[in-house]
Amino acid sequence: MSKPRPLIAGNWKMNGRRADGLALAEAIRAGAGSLAAELLLCPPATLIAQVGEKIKGSGIALGGQDCHWAASGAHTGDIAAPMLADLGCRYVIVGHSERRHGHGETDALVKAKAEAALAAGLIAIVCLGETEAERDRGEAEKVVARQLDGSLPKGTSPDRVVIAYEPVWAIGTGRTPSNGDIEAIHSVLRRDLAAYFPEADRFRLLYGGSVKPNNCEDILALANVDGALVGGASLKELDFLTIARTCH
Ligand code: PEP
Repeated sequence: MSKPRPLIAGNWKMNGRRADGLALAEAIRAGAGSLAAELLLCPPATLIAQVGEKIKGSGIALGGQDCHWAASGAHTGDIAAPMLADLGCRYVIVGHSERRHGHGETDALVKAKAEAALAAGLIAIVCLGETEAERDRGEAEKVVARQLDGSLPKGTSPDRVVIAYEPVWAIGTGRTPSNGDIEAIHSVLRRDLAAYFPEADRFRLLYGGSVKPNNCEDILALANVDGALVGGASLKELDFLTIARTCH
C-alpha cells in the first residue's frame, strides 16, 4: 500500500504576538513552495483568524492547539471545535502532553475532545507519549498502547485522525529517543491500529519531541513515521521549512 502524504505540523504553543506571528506565517508561506509534505500551522488561539488570512489559498493548513469536548456552553476560557472550524481550521491537536500533564487531562477527556473535533468536521491530532519514569521502568510501549486504546474517538479513520507519538521527556528538551526506540513505538501503534482498522497503513503517525533540522532527516526516514509535530523549531521559518523539505 502507498505511504500516506507526510504531515509537518507546527505547534506554536503560547508564543507570538500579532506582529511576529503574522510575520512568521508570511515567511513560511513565502518559502514553502511546492512540498511533498502537507504543512500545518497551529498558532495560539489569539492569532488563528489572522494567520488563517495570511495563508489563505496557499495549501498550508490551519489548526487549533486544543478544543473543548462540548460544542458550546458555559466554559469560560475554552474554545469549542465548531469555533475552530468556523475560523477555517482543518485540524486540532488534542491530548498534547502539556494538556495531559499540565491540566490533568485523561484519556477519556482526550477521547471526548477528539469526538468533538470529528463532529465539527476537523481532523484530530491525538497525542500520546510516555514520561521519562515510565520509559525508565520499561513501560513505554504499554503506556502508549493504553493511551491509544483510551483516546481514539468513535468514528476514527485514517482521514479523520492523525496520531502523534511525543515522549513527554523529549518535548522542548533537545533530547530524543534513539531511532530504534522511535521505530519500536511506531510499529506498536501501527500494529494496534491494524487490529481495528483494515486501512491501518493509511494513518499518519507523527513523531514529536525536539525535532530539529539536524535530526529530522533520520527521524523522518524511519519506518512508520509519516511526519512530525514540531514545537520550538516551528517558530523559526528556516528550521520549520528545512524539516518540511526533508519529506519526499
Ligand atoms: C511539541 O510541543 O509538540 C513539541 C514536539 O515541542 P518541541 O519540538 O519543542 O520538542
